[in-house]
Amino acid sequence: MATIIILGGGLTGLSAAYHLEQNGFFDYKIYDKEPNAGGLCRSVRQDGFTFDYTGHLLHINDPYMDQFVEKNMGGKAAFNKIDRRSFIQSYNMLIKYPYQINLHGLPSNVITECIEEFVKRKQYIKNPKTFHTWVLKHFGAGFSKHFFTPFQTKLFAYDIKKVTPSWTGRFVPQTSLTQMIDGALNLKKEEKVGYNSTFFYPKKHGISYIIDQLTQNIRNKVQTEFNVESIDIQNKIVTFANGDFEQYDYLVNTIPLDHFLQKIIDRSTTNFKTQHKNLLCNSVLNFNLGINRADLTSKHWIYFPESQYPFYRLGFPHNFAQSMAPKNCSSLYGECSFLGNTDTETLLKKAIATTKKLFDIQNSEIITQKIISIPRAYVLYNFWREKNLPNLLAQLEMHAVKSIGRYGGWKYSSMQESVLDGKQVALELLSQLNQPIIPSTTFEQEPVFK
Ligand SMILES: Cc1cc2nc3c(=O)[nH]c(=O)nc-3n(C[C@H](O)[C@H](O)[C@H](O)COP(=O)(O)OP(=O)(O)OC[C@H]3O[C@@H](n4cnc5c(N)ncnc54)[C@H](O)[C@@H]3O)c2cc1C
Repeated sequence: MATIIILGGGLTGLSAAYHLEQNGFFDYKIYDKEPNAGGLCRSVRQDGFTFDYTGHLLHINDPYMDQFVEKNMGGKAAFNKIDRRSFIQSYNMLIKYPYQINLHGLPSNVITECIEEFVKRKQYIKNPKTFHTWVLKHFGAGFSKHFFTPFQTKLFAYDIKKVTPSWTGRFVPQTSLTQMIDGALNLKKEEKVGYNSTFFYPKKHGISYIIDQLTQNIRNKVQTEFNVESIDIQNKIVTFANGDFEQYDYLVNTIPLDHFLQKIIDRSTTNFKTQHKNLLCNSVLNFNLGINRADLTSKHWIYFPESQYPFYRLGFPHNFAQSMAPKNCSSLYGECSFLGNTDTETLLKKAIATTKKLFDIQNSEIITQKIISIPRAYVLYNFWREKNLPNLLAQLEMHAVKSIGRYGGWKYSSMQESVLDGKQVALELLSQLNQPIIPSTTFEQEPVFK
């Protein structure tokens, strides 16, 4: 028996554990099905290269996160602070990201269409219900045709007319006509636009560094290789595939919500089990190459909206930190999205062949290759989610289950949000349990990690 059980030892679960402990609360247990904690914040080392479970860059814009990193992750000295060099491959040109303020160099008919349609954009769409109409309202039909529709359709592997715009927030930078025309006439210098214009990356060990550091500050270790088999939410018992079981008062769930719902032994009137089918999420096939060439590119990543490229993004970790590749070598990751079943072998072959052609990479230059499959990657904001998710999470809460994090909360979120979600749930539970909360775990001062 433990008062609190945390399912999932990714960043969200670990943050919940950390914040419970910081408040002197240790009557909890944390479980993960894998042999190691970390979830998606994971790096693998192979032939001198370090590859993340696809590119993971730390974006910090919250003062608490700032201090959390300072306190638990070795502070600024352990990270490179990097100004983004990101591009978009469009009409055989590499233009700077974001598209909407960097039209310079594109064919003149594309520029004209983007600007003309921006001016005529459908201001009369008051409350866009889909991502598609949201783009028309804010950017117009030209940007929709040349960038947003092909890119987002490829990223989601899903029809953007069936996706709501509620995830856009900080992820899609807005713009003005002046900025747009300026960007069409001039080859602009890097501008700090968007949530990811500056990012932090660990100097050593890839993104798994943050997990390694955080776990050192948590006393109760993650019980690994505990795969959740069933959850009896009436009697508050979790059973694992290894036959173990544990009773709880409160359950913090960070494992994917669709999976969690299927594991519920449901004797209540609400049929949780059938609801998982409405929760949609795509998968990402992530390929990584270690290349025996020093100067592959100085870019950080490139987006690929066009359909002749099987991937939506290529990134270059050797430009995040020197330690990611041996001296005089470069490294590269590519990401391809798909929904449901797909022929991943063919997809992979095409993606690697296209990458090699783009950078004129010879077979003899490829030192190593690592393929990583991410079965749940981007949560799809379908209409069902918009209408029913809050109610579903509230019903779980009535059964003492708090479902949080990117997949527990079923959302499009970042590592920073995982830390903040974990903190919030810990403080909520401590308050429900009438436990004192130490002010330093709630403090928010001026950011120092800028
Ligand atoms: C393609 C992609 C790129 C991303 N890039 C960035 C980025 O650049 N910057 C950024 O800030 N964020 C990025 N993210 C988001 C980031 O990865 C997540 O926000 C964060 O890692 C989520 O942590 P989590 O703990 O909520 O989930 P997870 O990391 O998924 O952890 C959940 C844990 O639950 C465990 N689990 C699952 N099923 C069971 C079971 N049955 N029993 C027991 N345990 C189980 C898993 O093993 C896992 O450890 C990216 C995500 C993706 C998919």
